[in-house]
Amino acid sequence: MSKKRRTGDKLENDVVDAKGAGAAIASGVTASAIAASYNDQIRPVLDAVDRLRHLKVTQEGIQLPTIVVVGDQSSGKSSVLESLAGISQPRGQGICTRVPLVMRLQGDPSADSPKLQLEYSNGRVVTTTEANVADAINAATAEIAGSGKGISDAPITLVVRKRGVPDLTLVDIPGITRVPVQGQPEDIYDQIAKIIKEYIAPKESIILNVLSATVDFPTCESIRMSQQVDRTGERTLAVVTKVDKAPEGLLEKVTMDDVHIGLGYVCVRNRVGEETYDQARIEEARLFKNHPLLSKIDKSMVGIPVLAQRLMQIQATIIAKCLPDIVKQINDRLIRSSTELDQMPPDLINTGDAVRVFFHIVKKVCTSLEKILVRGEFGGYADDCNFHGTARIAEMLHMQRSCQRNAQGSDENFLTEEMRVLEETMGINLPNFLPRSAFHVMLKKKVEMVSQVPQDLVNEVWEYVEDLVMKVLLQHSENFPQVQSSCHRAIQSLMEKTRARSAQHVKEMIEMELVADYTANPDYMKTWEAIMEGQKKFMDSVDDKDKSRPSKITLECFGEVDVCHLRMHADLAAQAFDLRARLTACWKSIVLRHVDGLALHVLRGVKRLVENDLEDELANKLLGNNMAGVERMLSPPPSTGTKRDRLKKSIVLLQQSKEVVANIMDRISAADEA
Ligand code: GDP
Ligand code: MG
Repeated sequence: MSKKRRTGDKLENDVVDAKGAGAAIASGVTASAIAASYNDQIRPVLDAVDRLRHLKVTQEGIQLPTIVVVGDQSSGKSSVLESLAGISQPRGQGICTRVPLVMRLQGDPSADSPKLQLEYSNGRVVTTTEANVADAINAATAEIAGSGKGISDAPITLVVRKRGVPDLTLVDIPGITRVPVQGQPEDIYDQIAKIIKEYIAPKESIILNVLSATVDFPTCESIRMSQQVDRTGERTLAVVTKVDKAPEGLLEKVTMDDVHIGLGYVCVRNRVGEETYDQARIEEARLFKNHPLLSKIDKSMVGIPVLAQRLMQIQATIIAKCLPDIVKQINDRLIRSSTELDQMPPDLINTGDAVRVFFHIVKKVCTSLEKILVRGEFGGYADDCNFHGTARIAEMLHMQRSCQRNAQGSDENFLTEEMRVLEETMGINLPNFLPRSAFHVMLKKKVEMVSQVPQDLVNEVWEYVEDLVMKVLLQHSENFPQVQSSCHRAIQSLMEKTRARSAQHVKEMIEMELVADYTANPDYMKTWEAIMEGQKKFMDSVDDKDKSRPSKITLECFGEVDVCHLRMHADLAAQAFDLRARLTACWKSIVLRHVDGLALHVLRGVKRLVENDLEDELANKLLGNNMAGVERMLSPPPSTGTKRDRLKKSIVLLQQSKEVVANIMDRISAADEA
């Protein structure tokens, strides 16, 4: 009887020792904080973390500091948990762990009898007793994972409120089996490995690796697995069970540390046979005191009470380390979810609503386009050059100008073309009249040669504008994907019309050039005169009968030319030169006229598009046919509804979590100041 009390005292001593660790949570450890009672210090923090776990913040991707029990099958995981919980279950009714079991131990000095509660499947709570806990867990397991041997990752929480138990929350996960036993699914190993990884991978998890003294540690599957996620072992603690069965060499095994356990080893002896919990502790203490081999192991490494104390220390440290980050994560996620919800489209009740929202979207699209295509403002796209509409169109116009200006026939045989045309158009008339038809033929050829350039330009511009309009529209209508394809079609048909109009304009422009050789531009005469000043020099070289002069000469506007081949046709050369002079001067005016005209045509087209046509076309498409188009906005795509629900739920959860951690942070800072 006296021995039994000693065991109980031991546990209580451990609890007192853990006070220091509890104060450490308040990060700044002060004397008064240490003096505060254990219940005031560590319990609320544990409660907070447990409440967060209960709220399932892990679903939001927030990891909680957790001690996870892993071990190969039959290594003694459940036995260790039973020992920590002080539960003496009838043998043969052991818990078969097929789902993660969150075991929440709460020391409660006022509890006359142990209070056990199971929580699972979305808030189901079942009260049970120590004698029935295995049955209750097995029944809950069957409900979650089926009655066979299958497993599941949906957890069960067991709350044990009892005098003398350490305040600890641990998660027991199904043991690792290499080979499926009868009735187990083929991929049982992968399934279990996946659950284990999920629990032990986060750096917030402490791995409690349960190893049987009867096996060679390096061969343990659980060692291999924990080493994958915690290579250095800095967050792994080993519990060696069944020391009574294999005491030989144990001291060497735990001192050699072949398997890199950073947090150290604790050797324990769990209940054997029909022993009660208290008897088991007495036997354990006796074993480590008297056994010739086991007694050599340092007392800081043996026994369930030592394990409980180590775990409480570790738990306090890891929580203290993680809490500030959890607060930050909760806040970040809350802001993110709230913003996302705010940006979701409003629920549309009737057609009027839909029309209003539709025009709102159209207005936003047109305003954006006006900024980027007409006014040359970036309109929120400062970093994306593709959206700098006026600059891009100006670039295209610039390209067109250089294309047209450089439209020259090859000058290898200077004036040969002119001579040929003159010969063919020579009528029965005086030789010093330049035949008008010769000029027309030459001009027509030149105009036709470049007629594709303005056509290409308008095509390029409208292709760019169409793409831009589509992008801007998609952006502003992202909440209504159900109308985007109608809008797309409206834009396509609008752009078809715009293109057709431009094609017609270009065609007329070309046709006009061919009607008459006219310009009021005074530059024409200036250029012609400047060129003609070189005619004498040119003729001198062509008429050079004794071939004493060089055949290569440099002329205004034409640069260096070779006149050698013209010497036998000296009669037509002067006229050919004049013809070329007129053509060159005239072409300058024509290019200017084209470039200016086309630029204004394009600008007007863009303006018309964003100021009138786009709105009309979209409205016709979506409001026509009895509003069939906009009415589609009334039935939101299912994804919107689901997303809204998800966000709302997530916000509620995060707000609750925020309150939980806010409370605890307040307490901590109050304790700090005290
Ligand atoms: P689990 O599969 O890892 O949960 O392992 P269990 O806790 O179910 O234990 C497997 C078997 O080992 C059970 O029969 C336990 O009674 C036995 N066992 C566990 N710990 C000890 C111990 O320290 N000593 C002895 N002798 N048997 C133990
Ligand atoms: Mg088990």
